[in-house]
Amino acid sequence: MPPENNNFKEFARNPADLDISSLLPRRPTVGPDVPVVLWRLLRVVSLYKILGDETPTISYFLGKNIGNMLPIKTHEDIHRQLTALKIGKLNFSVTSPNVAHLAIAECMTCDGITPPLGKPICQLEAGIVAGALENLYPGKKIIGDEIKCIGGLGDEVCLIECKII
Ligand SMILES: [Zn+2]
Repeated sequence: MPPENNNFKEFARNPADLDISSLLPRRPTVGPDVPVVLWRLLRVVSLYKILGDETPTISYFLGKNIGNMLPIKTHEDIHRQLTALKIGKLNFSVTSPNVAHLAIAECMTCDGITPPLGKPICQLEAGIVAGALENLYPGKKIIGDEIKCIGGLGDEVCLIECKII
């Protein structure tokens, strides 16, 4: 008998259906965090190697999916949830009825990458904010964009601007 090929096996539980509570780690001695360098090897180096120019767009939609999954009912929830995820040191502000900003110092993805890469690279973070805002503004379209980036452009902070349309 040839060995069973796992690629054609169905999952007993679809990974895409897991919610945050089913992802909590059980690592009593190693702890719940992983090094930022591992994250960057995945998010920056490997994604660009495999996806190339598609990386910013796919990262943005990955982020949006994550933001949609967060339990957000107030603006304070956005600050609290993103702080708990250790994305960076955050300053979230709703600048006008149609615009929200998130400034990220010590960004998990890019702070410390020098010299700057020449383009913004934190589209995942932009997507997370946009996805979180979608929970607050059902029925509205949220468009997130990174307009300043520490490791991408040499800025002091990464700045995400979200338009609420
Ligand atoms: Zn950035």
